[in-house]
Amino acid sequence: MNKTLLMLLCSALTIQTSYADETAPTQTASNKPASIARAAYNPLLAASTLAYELPAFNKIRNEHFAPAFASAIRAHEKEIAAIANNRAKPSFENTIVALERSGQTLNRVSTIFFNLTATHTNPVLEALSSEMAPKLSAHQDLISLNDKLFARIEQIVKVRDQLKLDAESSRLLDRYYTDFVRAGAKLDATQKEKLKALNAQLATLGNQFSQNVLKETNSSALVLEHKEDLAGLSDAEIQIAAAAAKAKGMDGKFLIPLMNTTGQPAIASLEKREIRQRLHEASVNRGSHGGESDNRKIAIELARLRAERAQLLGYTHYADYGLEDETAKTSTAVNKMLSGLAPAAVANAKAEAAELQKLIDAKQGGFQLAAWDWAYYTEQLRKEKYAFDDGQLRPYFELNQVLEKGVFFAATKLYGITFKERKDLPVYHPSVRVYEIFDADGKPMALFLADMYARDSKRGGAWMNSYVEQSHLFGKKPVIANHLNIPQPPAGEPTLLTVDEVKTAFHEFGHALHGLFSNVKYPRFSGTNVPRDFVEYPSQVNEMWATWPEVLKNYAKHYQTGAPIPQTLLDKVAASKKFNQGYTTTEYIAASLLDQRWHQLTPAQIPADAIAFEQAALKDMGVDFAPVPPRYRTTYFSHIFGGGYSAGYYAYLWSEVLDADTVEWFHEQGGLNRKNGDWFRQQLLSRGGSIDPMESFRQFRGRDPKIEPLLLRRGLK
Ligand SMILES: [Zn+2]
Repeated sequence: MNKTLLMLLCSALTIQTSYADETAPTQTASNKPASIARAAYNPLLAASTLAYELPAFNKIRNEHFAPAFASAIRAHEKEIAAIANNRAKPSFENTIVALERSGQTLNRVSTIFFNLTATHTNPVLEALSSEMAPKLSAHQDLISLNDKLFARIEQIVKVRDQLKLDAESSRLLDRYYTDFVRAGAKLDATQKEKLKALNAQLATLGNQFSQNVLKETNSSALVLEHKEDLAGLSDAEIQIAAAAAKAKGMDGKFLIPLMNTTGQPAIASLEKREIRQRLHEASVNRGSHGGESDNRKIAIELARLRAERAQLLGYTHYADYGLEDETAKTSTAVNKMLSGLAPAAVANAKAEAAELQKLIDAKQGGFQLAAWDWAYYTEQLRKEKYAFDDGQLRPYFELNQVLEKGVFFAATKLYGITFKERKDLPVYHPSVRVYEIFDADGKPMALFLADMYARDSKRGGAWMNSYVEQSHLFGKKPVIANHLNIPQPPAGEPTLLTVDEVKTAFHEFGHALHGLFSNVKYPRFSGTNVPRDFVEYPSQVNEMWATWPEVLKNYAKHYQTGAPIPQTLLDKVAASKKFNQGYTTTEYIAASLLDQRWHQLTPAQIPADAIAFEQAALKDMGVDFAPVPPRYRTTYFSHIFGGGYSAGYYAYLWSEVLDADTVEWFHEQGGLNRKNGDWFRQQLLSRGGSIDPMESFRQFRGRDPKIEPLLLRRGLK
């Protein structure tokens, strides 16, 4: 039974038919039993025979999912019943390991399904997703609330001292016990019925919230009639906007799609103030302007149901329930950290605002700085102060170079792993690329899917997920994917990244490494199966290599001339690192506090008006500085209402403490080399959830984490 079906974090399936037939896999999957002939009618029902069990995307069709879910759920139910009703005395092997082995088909079907609804969805998959959300939740409850099963687990826990379990197995036993208790195993029959109803409603609404965000993000894209309105954008960006409009049947117009965050990158360049304002308002009004995909009521309802569920399980509110299983442990600890850092962040943002206002006044702007001016004037100020803008860097950041000569190069230098593109394997969208990864000793190790481009069928943001998780129990090697949302350039044009996109590529590959280097026995502990407030740590560490001189020199070359990025430009980038930190820290802390506020409500405190609640909360927490709105507003905050970050958005900053401390370690130890990489891999990346994450940090670092490097980095000291 594998807990993580979903991606981190962060619909009809178009079938690719243009791929060559499967060729012999480099690594042969274990031979599957006789059921394979029947299962051939539905490729989801048997493990793929492709290399590393990569899903046979060229054979999977929309109509395969519903019957596959039905069959996989039935099969899992049978397995669970057999474990629960086993006449033999409960043992670690016949109960815990048996549970760990169960549900493999369902896990496979769900993994492929949820990956596709996130990356390349369609109306058929969206409808099925709505239908499956409560069914899967009910199925999960059938296991978690199974009295006989829990009784067996309790009996094993009682005699655990006599079992002589190895450390990882012992931890697995704890994990199962805790998971069952947290899922309601100790409730009485009436309470269990109530919990089941709450779970089903939560699953349905969470799914609906995410689907609404995707719809709203697509439908709120800004359509412009006149080319003059795009003044400030580069020719390439204008071409992209024209192509995007054309693709939607609006030939001759221009379309600026929305990113999932409040801030929209085009605002940094758009010269016309009213266009910037329109783009900003399109962004912040998502999900709150009426209509079918309005999320205001859904957010309130989700908060209420979560609060009720938390109380049913014996907690004051949802945050206390959620945080207990994180490294932060309590909402008090999270509140303390966020509200402790907020005043300094807001003060920095206000100082930055004053500078921007000066610039506006010097240009006789005659207006007060607003949220839609921030990025534009920040870019002007950057040019003035550091004499460069993002546009000058982009020609040096061609996607393929960044990925292969940057992200992969750094991983080779650190860990000795090598990459070979596999064009023979099927993918779910023609822009997805597959790489086989070989370990330092040359042995085949994993597959990596790079899915870099934005499209309407893909959720916003960037994330990593796994199609196959490493485990020694099943003898499986990982298949990991990274997803970004880089705008597709017009045909024949190169894909030139922004600094942020380069950083994101390194970040997501940091998650990928966590999955790729996993070296655990049980799938429950594989790779990124760690607390949310720990999972962002390895990914953030990996960002450091994006600007590491040896790595930069290798990938940052002009896409036309091949000339290396000029050192003077790099020096300017380095000098501007702390630039605009007040803004980025404040927008992030505001969103994190908003998340905590929504999830620290008791059922009696649930508000009637989501927007009014949001405004009051921001004010109360001292982060209601209008020019810096929260990174996400309630109605499109998918991380917390649709995804797995409810009461957990603080995790990025929490993880950044470990990240900044680790970056310091790499500097102290001489940076980019095999010795450092191997130590980090061995002590940290390979452990997954198989040991206490903070313990693995201590083993890696030799001491507890220190917060100073983070404060320094973010200018909060
Ligand atoms: Zn991440």
